[in-house]
Amino acid sequence: MQISEKVVETSVKKAIVIGGGIAGLTFARACLDMGIEVELYEKRQLDEMLSGPGGIFIQRNAMRVYKLLWEGRIYQRLYEQGGKILSGGFSSKKATLLYVNTPKFVGEEDLGVCLLRPKLQQILYETLPEDTVKTGFNFSHFEDNGENVKVYFEDGSTATGDILVGADGLYSKVRARLNGTEKQQEPLYSGMCCWRGYFNSSKVTLDERYSWMEYWGRGNRFGYFDVGGGEYSFYGFNNSEPGGNDDKVGGKLKALQLLFSDYAEPVPSIIQTLDESTIYRDDIFDREPLGVEWGRGRVTLIGDAAHPFQPNLGQGGCMGIEDAFELAKVLTFTSDDKQVPSVLRQFESQRSPRVDRVFTVSRQVGNLGQSSSVMGCFFRNWIYKLTPTWLADLQFKWLFDYQPSWDHNSYPGENLSN
Ligand SMILES: Cc1cc2nc3c(=O)[nH]c(=O)nc-3n(C[C@H](O)[C@H](O)[C@H](O)COP(=O)(O)OP(=O)(O)OC[C@H]3O[C@@H](n4cnc5c(N)ncnc54)[C@H](O)[C@@H]3O)c2cc1C
Repeated sequence: MQISEKVVETSVKKAIVIGGGIAGLTFARACLDMGIEVELYEKRQLDEMLSGPGGIFIQRNAMRVYKLLWEGRIYQRLYEQGGKILSGGFSSKKATLLYVNTPKFVGEEDLGVCLLRPKLQQILYETLPEDTVKTGFNFSHFEDNGENVKVYFEDGSTATGDILVGADGLYSKVRARLNGTEKQQEPLYSGMCCWRGYFNSSKVTLDERYSWMEYWGRGNRFGYFDVGGGEYSFYGFNNSEPGGNDDKVGGKLKALQLLFSDYAEPVPSIIQTLDESTIYRDDIFDREPLGVEWGRGRVTLIGDAAHPFQPNLGQGGCMGIEDAFELAKVLTFTSDDKQVPSVLRQFESQRSPRVDRVFTVSRQVGNLGQSSSVMGCFFRNWIYKLTPTWLADLQFKWLFDYQPSWDHNSYPGENLSN
């Protein structure tokens, strides 16, 4: 479908977005495709906004969104700059294969693309006209007078739009203000921390049959994936107290070496190639689902601001991409200005079954991957090894059933709750 065919009369002429992460940038592009003016405000400076640790999976469901946006140019650039997600799976830490899938399980040539986060941010940023993203603006609060929303920033400046979209991440201040508070409650600690970074594949021998692999130990796991151009991203999870750091053991590299020393190759060799200055460590959090209502009046939320997950499915960013598309699409159903709040609530209630399911399955996969008892790990590995692949695939297949479409007859987001 050509852009001109999908631009329709809408009473939402201008959207204000808070947050220049994956969700906010994707939503801004989707608005422009729909003929809606958009201003995106980001608290960080541009170089910081375009940075980020390690790599990210943009899976097939989210890639379908990018195929539709900006006449497919984001989609094309992701393929040019990233690594395709091909076969991959889970192994024991001694490298016994437990589960492997191939893109065929969803009838595709690949399951999407992985790439380094700064590259993804840069690609998304470049889709927007120069004056769309305004950096150095720290959101403070908003006033919704029923006809428009006025947004206030910490430096006293303001912006006004027909709707306000909070895409400001895990600690979303837009969400806090919706709850009548200045700051959100602390998120829920998952019990694990994560190290992330990247390495060059020329220094390690990797099994060429797999573009990604995750090794399960007791209370920890290690994974790597192809992010294109000879680079790979890695991650390591470990059960630990919140707020920890690696000072006591002499740094992040040392911590990884100690933790994963008894894993089979290629894990120790990968760690050997790492550079301390490019390793990030974070505690991992999520929040209980909000239910069917995320916003109020002319204000809504997308991405982590609405539904932060544990990162065990590699779908947090992908769900933000889906949100961005579905929200931009429903805005074109508001020919009557009075409908705007109800259309935003419909967007939220249509999205919630799918994102709530991602939340639940993400936690389940995390609990399995982070099992720490001897018996728990034995049964986990044994069950995965004995389960037929087609049955194990069902755990993930529904994620790929999402089929975004500009078609108004599919309003508001068919297949959202498959
Ligand atoms: C270890 C790990 C691995 C992951 N792997 C994957 C993966 O492979 N695939 C995947 O899809 N997802 C993955 N995720 C999840 C993914 O990273 C997040 O879901 C995604 O980045 C969220 O994007 P967002 O745009 O909603 O929020 P963010 O990326 O958090 O962006 C929010 C933006 O808002 C800005 N902001 C915050 N407050 C304000 C304010 N007051 N005023 C103005 N601006 C503000 C911030 O500076 C930031 O730029 C992973 C997460 C982790 C922790």
